[in-house]
Amino acid sequence: MNEVPYWISTRGAGENPVPFLEALRQGLAPDGGLYVPDRLPDLPPLDRASDFASMAVAVLGAWFGPPTPAWSWAAAVREALSFPVPLVPLAGGAWDGIHVLELYHGPTHSFKDFGARTMARLAAAAGSGGPVAHVFVATSGDTGSAVADGFSGVPGYRVVLLFPEGRISPVQEAQLVVRRPGVVSFRVRGSFDDCQAMAKRVFADRRFDAWSPTSANSINAGRLLPQSLYYLHAARSLDEAPAFSVPSGNLGNLTAGLLAAACGMRHAGFVAAHNANDAFPRFLDGAPARFGASVETLSNAMDVGAPSNFERLDRMFGASRLREVVRGISVDDTATLDAMRSVYTETGVIVDPHTAVGLEAVRRLRQTGALRNAPVVVLSTAHPAKFPETVRSAIGIDPPSADGLETLRGRPTRCSTIDAGPDALLAALEGADFSA
Ligand SMILES: *Cc1c(COP(=O)(O)O)cnc(C)c1O
Repeated sequence: MNEVPYWISTRGAGENPVPFLEALRQGLAPDGGLYVPDRLPDLPPLDRASDFASMAVAVLGAWFGPPTPAWSWAAAVREALSFPVPLVPLAGGAWDGIHVLELYHGPTHSFKDFGARTMARLAAAAGSGGPVAHVFVATSGDTGSAVADGFSGVPGYRVVLLFPEGRISPVQEAQLVVRRPGVVSFRVRGSFDDCQAMAKRVFADRRFDAWSPTSANSINAGRLLPQSLYYLHAARSLDEAPAFSVPSGNLGNLTAGLLAAACGMRHAGFVAAHNANDAFPRFLDGAPARFGASVETLSNAMDVGAPSNFERLDRMFGASRLREVVRGISVDDTATLDAMRSVYTETGVIVDPHTAVGLEAVRRLRQTGALRNAPVVVLSTAHPAKFPETVRSAIGIDPPSADGLETLRGRPTRCSTIDAGPDALLAALEGADFSA
């Protein structure tokens, strides 16, 4: 038996297990399934005294084994997770006793920095060896900037961003078009679905082989594991086992929390807090899994109709266990704005629309008598400064600024506008400038 977990496909019976680094490099398993661990490690005891990065190294050691000269993963993890992760208690009104876990202090100010930065640094530490790989990312919001920032300057990797013209917020666009070494961005005349179709096509269309395409989307095992770390951090910081409310879309974040729980983290249950895209809450309420097109909301990073991590959740935990441990709540835009307003007037704290969905889900469950006997941790997934228009319409004032977002507009950019489809992408890549 291997000492550390190996990774197997959700679509197989456990055959062909691969080591973590191979799962990270491949993204999807060859049979099209998602990688899941073939066993769960015993996590070391976690004390409160160590800093976040030291805790991360202790936990990931159980997954990876000791670092080696060829793969110095511990240094990579420390470098990736070098920003603060505050757990802030709220006081006031319906929000009393809720702890907000601020996951937005990384360089691009969403929780995506945990997964994307760590994945990039781990890939760099492992060395690619082969030809320069191109990470193709279709993005409607936070993923693109986190992946671009994480991989920029990593030897052996370049990043190609595809985002839909006119469909993302001005701050998000500014974050995507800024000039970074090794990164090009394309504003696509089309929808997010068109961008996603292009990012998928590069793997099927032989004309793209020369670019050695790869992906870094939320199903990658290299993004999943680092996202379980902040759950463990919150749990070790509180005297009693907490419940977690997770603003959810593709369900990568929730999967990471359930993985931490399966490895022995004490907890008092999970809340899957969704916007109007409510297929998963319906499933948790007992409906058959039925996924479809997404609808647009104010919490746009959660506008997902068919969550890609569902297959992994279903394989790892099964429907009945999921329904036991996770409560699903759907919050519409009106209730989201109302929660932003109420949190601000009652506690003085300004939250972004995604975090507001997580908070509102807790308020609603508490009204039914649930979540009253345990501390509750709401994951705050983005900095409010990324959504100034929504914050202004909810509470009438501007959000506080975030490091780096202010100065973004003045920085050099690198972006061209292209038609949707593989031909336009191929032509644009031919002349693309990836220099520093
Ligand atoms: C990506 C994202 C989410 C949803 O996370 P999933 O892992 O896709 O469920 C929530 N909030 C913000 C701000 C995000 O960027």
